Amino acid sequence: MKARRPANREGAAGRAPRSKRARPPKRERPLRGDEPPRIVVPPPGPRSRAIAARLRAREGAAIWGSDPSPVVWSRARGCVVEDVDGNRYLDMTAGFGVASLGHAAPEVRDAVAAQAGRLTQGLGDLMPHEARERLVAQLSALGGALSSVLLASTGSEAVELALKTARLATGRRRVVAFKGGYHGLSYGALAVTERAGFRAHFKDQVADLAIWVPYPYPYRCPLARNCGGCDLACLDAAFEAIDRALAGPDPPGAILVEPVQGRAGGVIPPGGFLRALRARARERGLLVIYDEVMTGAGRTGPFWAWEREGPEAGPDLLCAGKGLGGGVAIAALLGRPEIMEAWRPHVLPSGESPHASTFYAHPIACAGAVAALDRLSSAGLHRHVERMGRRLGEGLRQLAARHPAIGEARSVGLLGAIEFVRDRATREPDPARLSRAHARLLGAGLLTVPGGEHGNVLLLHPPLVLTESQLATAFRILDRHLPDS
Ligand code: PMP
Repeated sequence: MKARRPANREGAAGRAPRSKRARPPKRERPLRGDEPPRIVVPPPGPRSRAIAARLRAREGAAIWGSDPSPVVWSRARGCVVEDVDGNRYLDMTAGFGVASLGHAAPEVRDAVAAQAGRLTQGLGDLMPHEARERLVAQLSALGGALSSVLLASTGSEAVELALKTARLATGRRRVVAFKGGYHGLSYGALAVTERAGFRAHFKDQVADLAIWVPYPYPYRCPLARNCGGCDLACLDAAFEAIDRALAGPDPPGAILVEPVQGRAGGVIPPGGFLRALRARARERGLLVIYDEVMTGAGRTGPFWAWEREGPEAGPDLLCAGKGLGGGVAIAALLGRPEIMEAWRPHVLPSGESPHASTFYAHPIACAGAVAALDRLSSAGLHRHVERMGRRLGEGLRQLAARHPAIGEARSVGLLGAIEFVRDRATREPDPARLSRAHARLLGAGLLTVPGGEHGNVLLLHPPLVLTESQLATAFRILDRHLPDS
């Protein structure tokens, strides 16, 4: 005899009426993370376009405003991103440098899932939680002499924490910052970010916190010298300006600098720059703050980019973010304990911390970051980045030799930059070619980030776990699709 099916909720035996039956979820083919790029519809496809249009209507300026219209991401794994139209890309961006271990890195995913089932919110300074303590201990160890830690959720926030710390420690208001630098767009961070387009409308509010000095940009010497190699003359110019400010009524207390300028175009100063800067700052009693939001967590080979210059280059304060959490939203300020002590007298009489926010040390972010940092700090990963970094450098040199539109291609570790010029002799920036390159590479399945102070630099900062064959694929696409005319 046939067993009777249990009655469904409507009381009828057997299957629910067709219209009421829940559709079985569409089985998605899993993304492995090592698939080659595959373009099934020229990007941005129709679904991307429709979603981007709806977002633009509601979110306005938060959506990329020029061509090509954005492709909308659906899922990502490893170095592979899939969009809502089914196109698959090789990701040379790591999502603005965040997916340092690749997208959905298993250890981060598992730690986040476990934490999500255990504790998802703490009570800030009032009642902390265990994952926070694990993360702070780990960061403290990674900081070396910078063993004091404050957490944040974004790079901008970490920069603001550094500015506040410098203020408390020195009593001084102003900060030396570099032209072309990018430190974030919240008010405090914007006050030390030089890009005019971001500052223009808020200039009167953030006007004079920063004292601007030139950054060593070997391909575009800020002093317009052509001495056959950078001799750091701009550092002399910078310290002339700093010394004038130090002699004035409102002297600076700190110098903020990116070890490699990221958004400005992957601008790599010559070796010895940080050491020289550090030494001169120390002579003048200025604190040195490194913004390693882009360059930290292994991006350039060693865990911190400054380590490339040896221990004398070590800063007083350091901002980290982006790849630090392997995909979760975490950032941090690390500092020498004697400097970070400056916060302690400012604990409120009520016991409240002078620095707090609702999502401070968010448990899910802390748990994910702890798992990520275990791997990000491993010698094996650093060796991999050094090796892949050399390959990236060689590939960029070969590419520059074949494409006359490239004025300079440079890299450090897995941070690469291709600078387009109208003419190699004049080095005139060619932002139109960058736009064409960005769009054509997208159409060929390669994700890159446009950048540069003059809007002419293609940035490559892939996940640190990028494989040799993925890098070879990236170069095949670059070689075939970079516009030469
Ligand atoms: N500093 C640097 C060097 C950065 O590259 C960025 C972001 N591009 C920031 C700070 C700001 O970080 P966030 O966007 O997370 O606020």
